[in-house]
Amino acid sequence: MSKKNKFIAMLGGGQLGLMFTIKAHQLGKKVLVLDPDKNCPAGKIADKFINTDYLDINALNEIKENCNVCTTEFENIPFRTLEILEKDIEVFPNSKSLKVSQDRILEKKFLRKLNLPTTEYHEINSERDLEKFNINGNWPYILKTSTFGYDGKGQKIVNNFSELKFSYEKLNSDKFVLEKKVNLKKEVSQVAACYKEKTIFLPISENIHINNILHKSIIPANIDNDSVKKIEYITKEIVNSLNYIGIICVEFFIDDNDNIMVNEIAPRTHNSGHYSMDGCDISQFEHQVRILTNMDPKRSSVLLPSVMINLLGDLWKNGPPDFSFTENDNIFLHLYNKDIPKPGRKMGHINILDASSEFANELADKFFKELNEK
Ligand code: ADP
Ligand code: MG
Repeated sequence: MSKKNKFIAMLGGGQLGLMFTIKAHQLGKKVLVLDPDKNCPAGKIADKFINTDYLDINALNEIKENCNVCTTEFENIPFRTLEILEKDIEVFPNSKSLKVSQDRILEKKFLRKLNLPTTEYHEINSERDLEKFNINGNWPYILKTSTFGYDGKGQKIVNNFSELKFSYEKLNSDKFVLEKKVNLKKEVSQVAACYKEKTIFLPISENIHINNILHKSIIPANIDNDSVKKIEYITKEIVNSLNYIGIICVEFFIDDNDNIMVNEIAPRTHNSGHYSMDGCDISQFEHQVRILTNMDPKRSSVLLPSVMINLLGDLWKNGPPDFSFTENDNIFLHLYNKDIPKPGRKMGHINILDASSEFANELADKFFKELNEK
């Protein structure tokens, strides 16, 4: 093997980087992880761990010397980092995709240009931009910082002009998007594995959020065939327009009139795709490894209907939870090896499989309730 083939570079060492690295190891590949956090989960098992800033030029040169290909698990990596790496090695996803998806305004403009449906939105760049809502507000809206939002952070529901002004002052940013609050019937997401040769759609998941953080994904999503086709079409348009290679997730809203809208694009593996680790023969992480190492495209076939529940740090309030119920054929526990469980921090997830998705869902609710009562 040439020196350059030694490692796959992974920018970011959180849980998505961790599950990628575990799968890469199973497929006999080595991974170099770059992350500024010295205790990050993937850093602990990486074949090479560089603990520094994403724009550290020495680190980027080290990646160029040791790797042919680079990927990421996190959309808030500076896209400049990807631009620097792209000059010399393959980078999937490309810097353009990262640039578009890390800024809500750019993302919405990109979608509108493709004539794809988004929520009603307004760009807010100054206090003056707020004024028109003093008279003509189609309340309620959600004010979101244009950059650096995740897991519901950096956003606030506003019901009138004074709440809007208050949240504008309080949220720390100079660029916002004001989105119409949608009457949601459902939220669903489409993970796609974009190989150089072709794009594979994983089953669409139906997503339930608590406090704007993903709580549960149910697969298959309970939507009709027409909706599936629309969602696949929209995803394909995004993938083609970005020349996308890698794993992508598109989050969708379906409103109470059955309109389908794109919520946001994640240029990486996604929490709502974690079910695929046990519910499919080929998981989103296996696809990511396969794409980066030029393996043949494979389809993901569903083994059984699945329900995934997230385990947040809140469950650790009285010490480590009792997960003995997961010692069962069709229940799979995945913990992320994080040092400190904080409220809202994603510590792990559980996949529950059953021939009946209703039963899997009932079990998930029962276990979640019990975990909370401990
Ligand atoms: P994040 O980057 O934090 O995931 P999102 O924009 O996806 O940000 O918002 C998180 C969640 O908040 C969504 O999954 C949805 O449940 C809710 N939400 C966000 N925007 C809207 C909206 N315009 N209307 C209704 N609910 C929304
Ligand atoms: Mg989201």
